[in-house]
Amino acid sequence: MSAPLLGVDLGGTSTKLLLGRPGPDGAEPLEQTQVPTPRGPGALDLLADRVQAFLAGRTVAAAGVTVPGLLDGDGVVTRSVNLPWLDGVAVGDVLGTALGVPVVAVHDGRAAARAEAVLGAGRGHADVYVLTLGTGIAGAQVIGGQVLAGAHLSAGEVGHVSQDDHGRLCSCGQRGCLETLVGAEHLARRWQEVLAAEGSTPQTAPTARDLVEAARAGHPGASAVLDQATTALARALLALLATVDPGLVVVGGGLGQAADVVVAPAVVKLTERATFHSVPPVVPSALGPWAGAWGAVLGAADQR
Ligand SMILES: [Zn+2]
Repeated sequence: MSAPLLGVDLGGTSTKLLLGRPGPDGAEPLEQTQVPTPRGPGALDLLADRVQAFLAGRTVAAAGVTVPGLLDGDGVVTRSVNLPWLDGVAVGDVLGTALGVPVVAVHDGRAAARAEAVLGAGRGHADVYVLTLGTGIAGAQVIGGQVLAGAHLSAGEVGHVSQDDHGRLCSCGQRGCLETLVGAEHLARRWQEVLAAEGSTPQTAPTARDLVEAARAGHPGASAVLDQATTALARALLALLATVDPGLVVVGGGLGQAADVVVAPAVVKLTERATFHSVPPVVPSALGPWAGAWGAVLGAADQR
């Protein structure tokens, strides 16, 4: 059997390392672990040391590394908000030299979406849309195992499609974006406002998870916030069906796990609103936090 592939999912605080072989049976890791992400000058050398310790002498055919930021055509990081020391660095080349194997750098969100479509919940489907609901909202259309990144590599910013010119200000500068209605930070803020209006002052800052729990417990204010959110999500999904007509929608991210109070109500509204649209199955993600590392493994597989 050929040597396995290494996936490195470089995150803001921790980095996931995964040794595996993508195959027809999907994602079965040989071994996986998590290490703190090194920071500052010399960080990639330190990361290479940690990877070597993980491999413990085992040979890999190739490796992939996800980058939380923008990459140019040569694999050089043009901008990483979370890891600014990566700016201007050809991460794949540097790690490849240190590890002695070909290493390809891939965009973290696109890599995770590709893995989810190819090895995870979308396995067996040729035309998958992966929607990730977190602090930000990202979408990726994956056709035949490849992410359609767009002419300027900026496709999939579904979180920044505005639904209301008079809505709340978004981090992107527009108003009323989907993210202001469904993004985790905005939901937390809206929940805080509900609590403040009730005269209640929680000891710690409320989170979107608290909101979900409160809605499950039957709090009408929490349910009202999520009702607005799931209506916005249904509208966004309807627009997706009209424009890209996917065969399957995979929903991931923290809020994607809240199937009962977020995803299922949104799908009900989507189905009610659909007219000419073909409503595909909407399913939860399968790879969870390891999707990025599997995406890096798929990038490595391309190198062989
Ligand atoms: Zn926006």
